[in-house]
Amino acid sequence: MSLLRTAFRPSVLSARVRQYATEAPQKKSNLVPMTLAVGGLGGLAFYVWSTRTGASSEPLPSALNSDQFVSFKVKKVVPYNHNSSTFIFELPPKTSSKLPVASCVVVQAEDPEALKDKKGNPVVRPYTPISAAENTGEIAFLIKRYETGVMSKHFHTLKPGDSLKIKGPIPKFPYKENEFDEVALIGGGSGITPLYQVITHALSSPSNTTKFKLLFSNVTEEDILMREDLDALAKKHPKTLEVVYLLDKPKDDWKGPKGFISSDVIKKYVSPATSERTMVMVCGPPGQVAAIAGKKDGFKQGEIGGVLKELGYTSDQVFKF
Ligand SMILES: Cc1cc2nc3c(=O)[nH]c(=O)nc-3n(C[C@H](O)[C@H](O)[C@H](O)COP(=O)(O)OP(=O)(O)OC[C@H]3O[C@@H](n4cnc5c(N)ncnc54)[C@H](O)[C@@H]3O)c2cc1C
Repeated sequence: MSLLRTAFRPSVLSARVRQYATEAPQKKSNLVPMTLAVGGLGGLAFYVWSTRTGASSEPLPSALNSDQFVSFKVKKVVPYNHNSSTFIFELPPKTSSKLPVASCVVVQAEDPEALKDKKGNPVVRPYTPISAAENTGEIAFLIKRYETGVMSKHFHTLKPGDSLKIKGPIPKFPYKENEFDEVALIGGGSGITPLYQVITHALSSPSNTTKFKLLFSNVTEEDILMREDLDALAKKHPKTLEVVYLLDKPKDDWKGPKGFISSDVIKKYVSPATSERTMVMVCGPPGQVAAIAGKKDGFKQGEIGGVLKELGYTSDQVFKF
């Protein structure tokens, strides 16, 4: 872990893991012995979190509206690494996002007139929260800042008390438990968040049997988002989650695979196209999605292309976020 990440994260990390891990919250009755086992303040903090984030089975209304943008205030901004931060927004009391898996939201500036594209339309971009759908009173997004980006740069100007307009859910892929034997998740950079939503949701169920293989590419080790959370999940679910990090520009001591996600990498880690009940989900920068699975056609899937097509995968085996 780089000095930069270490500097930002020690106190934040464990709190963040507890606060935003999207595994289903456990019932209160199970938490008391767990609290005792963990012991001390840490256990107490966990118990307080669990009760605060709606660990009861009471269904909560959604704070979001899929037909219109609703303004939400930034509660907290937590730096994550050199170019990404977690933005936590306040939801009305006793509400949660209730986003189904897999779905995202779209966001717009509080004053849409202030952030317009070249055609004069308000800029709208999709984002997938890293907080659990059941989290009460808040929703969190991990946002990577792109130097030439419009909305990601706007996000990074937001301070506690500022507002942003959010609309959702925007349905993506209707995930059904055990529909597939294997789900390969291929991601790059901030494209991890929709894949993280699927993984955490699926693995939170004790009856899950699907094997998840995450191939996650980044430029350097410092760019890997959600790494501790993913490693913790892989440790907890060794039979159903394998995580492979790939780096374009690794340091000399990097032991993992290097370079882009090629057909050799996919052949090595993912079941072949001929295997039944294998699904591949892809989310990353537009260039990466095009190279791996073919270009998306706006909001539509677009034709299957790239490496996956060469390897024989068909459009019904591939989903592009
Ligand atoms: C389903 C979904 C969920 C997403 N969730 C998140 C999230 O949780 N956190 C997050 O930070 N981002 C997320 N994104 C990406 C996000 O929607 C924007 O594309 C990203 O913030 C860039 O927007 P921008 O307006 O700043 O850049 P733009 O003005 O759109 O583009 C500026 C530059 O960034 C490049 N670019 C555009 N989109 C991407 C991209 N997706 N990845 C890399 N480079 C890009 C362009 O090629 C261009 O060079 C998600 C995307 C999808 C499809």
